[in-house]
Amino acid sequence: MNQAKRRYRAEKALFLERLKQAVKAGEPIPRYPKHKDHVLKAYGEECANCSSRENLEIHHKLNNGKQHRLLISKGRAGNDFYAALKRRGYPNREPYLLEVLCKKCHKVHTKLNGRRKDYGETQAGGGHSG
Ligand SMILES: [Zn+2]
Repeated sequence: MNQAKRRYRAEKALFLERLKQAVKAGEPIPRYPKHKDHVLKAYGEECANCSSRENLEIHHKLNNGKQHRLLISKGRAGNDFYAALKRRGYPNREPYLLEVLCKKCHKVHTKLNGRRKDYGETQAGGGHSG
């Protein structure tokens, strides 16, 4: 069993324990944490720009998200990308500096700065964690 699998198992066991306790105490059933929850926790749980804690996304500071996704998650965004970050131990260094932005700030940033053409990004479309 590889390290990632072991970690998933540990997370699952931890959640099951929490679930059992919640049921026993008559508390609301907790939601199973997604890969994104762990990733946001690792990089900070608030927007680096406005400190909002809602609708958070991972932002590539150097606007090279597409390149990064091609490298680690077969170009896929969302869940696959978050899972790949976890597998890699939440890397955050040149040339793939990551930070947390809320959806609103992320959108504004992308609009102002575009996406890097030298990394093969296009100006149009997207909207995911770039
Ligand atoms: Zn924000």
